[in-house]
Amino acid sequence: MEPAARPMKLANYGNTCYVNAALQCLHHCAPFRAAVAAAGGRSAMWRALADLFASGGREAPRMVAALRTMSADLHEQGDVHEFVYRLLDRLHADVKLCDNEQSPGHCETDAADAAWHAFLKQEGTSVLTSVFHGQSETRVACGACGWRTSSYDPFCCITLGRVGRTIAESLAHWCESEAVPDWRCDGCSIRGRGTRRVALARAPAVLMLLLPAFVFEQPAPVAITLDEVLRFSGRTYRLASVACHVGSRRERGHYHAICRADDGGWWQLDDDAPPQPVSSAAAPRGRPYLAFYVSDAPS
Ligand SMILES: [Zn+2]
Repeated sequence: MEPAARPMKLANYGNTCYVNAALQCLHHCAPFRAAVAAAGGRSAMWRALADLFASGGREAPRMVAALRTMSADLHEQGDVHEFVYRLLDRLHADVKLCDNEQSPGHCETDAADAAWHAFLKQEGTSVLTSVFHGQSETRVACGACGWRTSSYDPFCCITLGRVGRTIAESLAHWCESEAVPDWRCDGCSIRGRGTRRVALARAPAVLMLLLPAFVFEQPAPVAITLDEVLRFSGRTYRLASVACHVGSRRERGHYHAICRADDGGWWQLDDDAPPQPVSSAAAPRGRPYLAFYVSDAPS
């Protein structure tokens, strides 16, 4: 069983609110905590994270020191999404197994499987691969002859370009059919009759969703409601945490996090201010920007 999540007070070491929001969000994703425990401190960064989580935030100075080795510009206001990517990349690189170290003998049963193994061969595998990485399937069908084709892409975050009133609606928009005007069918050679739709071929344990907090550098209107429970691709996902942006400029604003504790209560975590209980994560202060949904165990 993975270690428990508890709200951490994390001092701001100079423009590090985006770092703190990211660490709080990741800490409240149980599969990530399990990965930190499983990695067993195999690099300075993994050790710093394990100590940070185990100490309830008291080991933050060591964490910040480790992060400075990764980001020379750590103390310039950063983007929480970019920071999460860089941190996960670094953690993955520290412990990944490359192709010749992986256990032999996997069997590619279909195109999705083949694409997935090509991805693993290129990027290597680590305890993080199954936590954050999923695989999308883009299907294009010909309206003239019915010919179909699929392509498969790995992802570790879904960008919700067209938002609805809720996350569920926004994900439905991400999946829904759209015309592909320039597509030429390999079956009948007719151009312009294709429709594209996206589905999940592999669902990640943690579904990371990027919401448009800014549109053309202007704050996006706040209209989206964060579903606490999401049915997606045959799985049930529960909102674990969300990083929110407050302010009218991306590079000058402030980040805080709303996170769900193990007892189901919600906390607003804002640097080293005392954790504030909030009634839900549905309508947080500021604009929800990066949301983390954790899958129930697949049935
Ligand atoms: Zn066709």
